[in-house]
Amino acid sequence: MSGQVMMIMFLKKYRTVVLPAVVVLAVVTLSILPAGCGGQDTSGRLKVSASIVPLADFCSRVGGEHVEVQCLVPPGAGCGHTFEPTPGSMDFLSKAGVFVENGLGLESWATDVLSKITRPDVVRVVAAEAVPADLLLPSVEGEPGLEDPHVWLDPSLAVYQVEAIREGLVEADPSNAEVYQRNAAAYIEELKGLDGELRRELEQVKGASFISTHPTWTYFAPHFGLVQVGEVEELPGKEPSARRIAELMEKVKEFDVKAVFAEPQLSPRALEIITKDAGPGVKVATVDPVGDPDNPEVSDYIKMMRFDVGVMSEALE
Ligand SMILES: [Zn+2]
Repeated sequence: MSGQVMMIMFLKKYRTVVLPAVVVLAVVTLSILPAGCGGQDTSGRLKVSASIVPLADFCSRVGGEHVEVQCLVPPGAGCGHTFEPTPGSMDFLSKAGVFVENGLGLESWATDVLSKITRPDVVRVVAAEAVPADLLLPSVEGEPGLEDPHVWLDPSLAVYQVEAIREGLVEADPSNAEVYQRNAAAYIEELKGLDGELRRELEQVKGASFISTHPTWTYFAPHFGLVQVGEVEELPGKEPSARRIAELMEKVKEFDVKAVFAEPQLSPRALEIITKDAGPGVKVATVDPVGDPDNPEVSDYIKMMRFDVGVMSEALE
């Protein structure tokens, strides 16, 4: 008998004895954990799953060291209108104590996923629903009764989302309520400061018109005195038709459009056509509606807003 075969036999024998012991140990360990620790990781931090990057950032700022945050939609997928969750992200979500989504139709994939895999006691935060109804704007896709979901890009509305997240964390983990309240209050002050800072920077280009990739700036534009006159995409992720491009070119003339704001997910082909047709007077600049933790320029919400406003004020001059 070769050494290798002997080793396999040994392993087989070993496994039959040891494995059940490991399983028993695991079951015992799980059953002796104190009640009420649902949705926490091994170090006792509350597991928080957020749909998009800005909401994940809000959760990190409010939760601080008491939360472990996972973002479902990867940064490259933009605001995730056409996102499909991966098995890896589902694993975290299935253990999360809090799930934070934007709502207003952004995460059409969420309801199905949530009902199947989240814990029965998961605290679900629909952050955009915290924005008062009279501050919501209709969706430009024109479907009656639908509101535009991109509220986080107006810092004064992001404050409502941060408050909703604070309430969700307090509900799931009341023992750290004071910390969540303190962190949220400090962050909201920062957001108010940011709002004023961005307003001052955009003052010089007030009233300027632009075309966006998709209805990203529906709240941002009127809040800061800019005009989003059209969108390249007719539907999320859909390439613009020749007719769509012709309509946009009309708007470029009619509204004296100064810039087209591209986003990472817009196809280079569509952008090429628009750039060529729009003429030399129209600048094309890339903005980011969600940010990316791995890119130092836009690694959190506040940096991303400063970056986008910097790009915009330069392009709209
Ligand atoms: Zn979007």
